[in-house]
Amino acid sequence: MKIRKRHIIILGLVGVLLFLSYRWTSEPSETVDLVVIGAGASGMSAALEAEAAGVNVILLEKMPYVGGNTVRATAGMNAVETEAQKEAGISDDVEIFVGDILESGHSEGNPRMIEIMARESSSALDWLTAKGADLSDVGILAGHSKPRTHRPSGGQPVGGEIVKVLKRSIDDSTVDLRLEHKAVQIMVDHDRVISGVGVVDKTGRKYTIHTKKVIIATGGFGGSPEVFVYYNQKLKGYHTTNSPSATGDFIGLVEDLDVKLVDMSYIQTHPTVSPEYGVLITEAIRGNGGILINNSGKRFANEMKNRDFLSEDLLSQPGKEVYLLFNETVRESLAASDDYINMDLIHSAPDVETLANTLRIDTHSLNETIDRYNGFVESQNDLDFGRRSLTVTLDEGPFYAVKVTPAVHYCMGGMLIDDNARIIGEDGNPISGLYAAGEATAGIHGLNRLGGNSLLDAIVFGRIAGRSAVE
Ligand SMILES: Cc1cc2nc3c(=O)[nH]c(=O)nc-3n(C[C@H](O)[C@H](O)[C@H](O)COP(=O)(O)OP(=O)(O)OC[C@H]3O[C@@H](n4cnc5c(N)ncnc54)[C@H](O)[C@@H]3O)c2cc1C
Repeated sequence: MKIRKRHIIILGLVGVLLFLSYRWTSEPSETVDLVVIGAGASGMSAALEAEAAGVNVILLEKMPYVGGNTVRATAGMNAVETEAQKEAGISDDVEIFVGDILESGHSEGNPRMIEIMARESSSALDWLTAKGADLSDVGILAGHSKPRTHRPSGGQPVGGEIVKVLKRSIDDSTVDLRLEHKAVQIMVDHDRVISGVGVVDKTGRKYTIHTKKVIIATGGFGGSPEVFVYYNQKLKGYHTTNSPSATGDFIGLVEDLDVKLVDMSYIQTHPTVSPEYGVLITEAIRGNGGILINNSGKRFANEMKNRDFLSEDLLSQPGKEVYLLFNETVRESLAASDDYINMDLIHSAPDVETLANTLRIDTHSLNETIDRYNGFVESQNDLDFGRRSLTVTLDEGPFYAVKVTPAVHYCMGGMLIDDNARIIGEDGNPISGLYAAGEATAGIHGLNRLGGNSLLDAIVFGRIAGRSAVE
């Protein structure tokens, strides 16, 4: 028989069909004690705690690398009554911290969850330190009444440090970390009991992991404009500081599980983000002495206000963009600021006059603003805006300025959890076998989150979720 072109095409099509049917029907499966979805701070902490209690854990991560939004964190992680605070002579405690968190969240936060987070903060810090993290530098961020934000010495970014030690611990453990394996479904049996997780790997292969326990640690949805605008129309057109991994996958995963999603429209904007590139300029620059000036060279707000109020003040300025200004003393105190200089985001000048010319701001006005602010630092009394943290006079050059505007930063909304990190159902009861932690959860911070509290939340409730799932 003569083989015609037609036959070759038919044979080819049959081959493709056989290959596809193999892919979709074979669906290999396996069984494990616990599946953790998402390898950011919360997921890695959960997986490590569960593994330490002796169970088999599979940790799924959809990206080719771990770290999600966690690795982007710069300013630090909050903790009170720590060794570093004691060494620096800072008197602070759980009660003061809880008070600051409640105030920042407009009293809509959950006092019980906040209390747990604050109480567990020093042990969370010790846990990371024991794994090799350097969190010895303590600074103050906006909305805090005390310096309690911990980061590596010299003011290095905190996220990379935390991800480094957690990943190293995962590698040293029996946790089965699977990169580029995306969880696409959480399965239940006919009694509506959790029975497994549907996964798609990087080759497109679909498979099922049978398990009775799942921890969802997929982070927030601030990386997806489509999703954040769906929940809060006011954010249309906003840039985001988030990783492209933060697409709110938890929403689809729990869609059919009667999970209670709350506060989904509570989305925090961060006031100081570079408008051109969406790079977050860490709050620690203000904490260490930076000020904000508008296009007329004037301060317009207490730079240490909570993020929501400061974002509003900033958006009422002409052009909705302002400059964050600091000097050499601030730069030297914070290694992270060199990253922005290396990224070419910063205008630098040897003196105020040159800086004013570069920014096309009236020199007299800028000089007047800086002199007045320096006077406030000397008298420790900000007569204009009541800023309490007045640490550095901006008198020694070089001077630095970066243009900033608010961008979407953090999702306060998500799955409601209880103090054992169990996910709460629509009926108000915990759903058996289902746990969550980190930015995918809700009901802790209230209307606004204090800087440095997200990492704390992720580590504290990640650890709790890991232990809880094993009990
Ligand atoms: C620029 C920036 C700076 C910040 N600075 C600070 C700071 O200084 N201090 C502070 O406290 N907080 C800070 N935050 C907030 C904080 O980093 C995050 O809220 C926190 O790290 C969230 O941790 P997480 O574990 O919940 O989520 P993530 O770290 O985002 O991890 C979630 C992981 O889940 C994975 N995933 C998602 N869906 C799936 C799926 N379907 N299957 C498998 N894997 C999935 C993601 O790829 C990701 O790796 C900052 C955030 C940003 C964006």
